[in-house]
Amino acid sequence: MKKYKAVFFDWDGTAVLSRTAPVDDIVPVMQPLLENGVKLAIISGTTIENIAGGHIGQYFSKKQLGNLYLGLGRGAYNYGFQEGKPYLFENRLPDTAGLLTIHRICFEIHAELKEKYDFDTDIVFSRPNYCKIDLMTENRRGDNLFMQEDELDLLREKMKEHGMKEGLSGLMEMAVRTGRSYHLEVIPTCDAKYLEVGISSKSDNVEAILGKMREECSIEAGECAFWGDEYVGIEEDIFGSDSFMYTEQTSDGDFFDVSEVRGKRPEGVRLVGGGVKSFLDFLAAQNEM
Ligand SMILES: [Mg+2]
Repeated sequence: MKKYKAVFFDWDGTAVLSRTAPVDDIVPVMQPLLENGVKLAIISGTTIENIAGGHIGQYFSKKQLGNLYLGLGRGAYNYGFQEGKPYLFENRLPDTAGLLTIHRICFEIHAELKEKYDFDTDIVFSRPNYCKIDLMTENRRGDNLFMQEDELDLLREKMKEHGMKEGLSGLMEMAVRTGRSYHLEVIPTCDAKYLEVGISSKSDNVEAILGKMREECSIEAGECAFWGDEYVGIEEDIFGSDSFMYTEQTSDGDFFDVSEVRGKRPEGVRLVGGGVKSFLDFLAAQNEM
């Protein structure tokens, strides 16, 4: 295993079992790396309130926080720390009119699914630059927000029952087409329960943060590792939210998947499996190097 100068990683399902799970295991492996100047970047779809209950900063010294970055809200927010406090150095937030356009697009997707296929959805609107369309309204995830093994099969089955022959790719196309009718290029992602439709993705987070690292300490993508639990291909050429960490700018990096969900991963992503423990072991091993 090589020694990395920066590690980008997903939070729920990769660093911690769930966002309400204790951080007792992840914090002690992060501390020495941060202390020794390794850059760590948490790349999560959630907002800062949901990372260690909004108190991630309190687990680290000011010096350690100087090496910690948060790329959150699926592209919306990028934070560094100054004097021990998080500060936004780049964001992708639409104004109210722009946000309402995203809401309208999502409502239209909801309506089209109901009208054409009698397919029920719920929409979560209260997100900074995207909406979550719940495709499995009868299936609750509880605290475990990451994709479960059987969810994909359940969703495929449900779509078939409703006559949605184009499957998930048809759904993604519907999102893009609906977006264009509002003159907006939307970026849809799908993890089997939620179709998320917004204007940014984890690609925007990793590129903003890598850009900052490059500028401040000339770290290049080839010196970085990218860990997640949602790379897996849901259908041909549709990959999970963590696959968005793989971009033209980051492609020289090393990509690892701790999930064992069956399916195709983007080229170059290494299947490690083992869940959260694998990632903790990796960070511990980096500390030894
Ligand atoms: Mg995850």
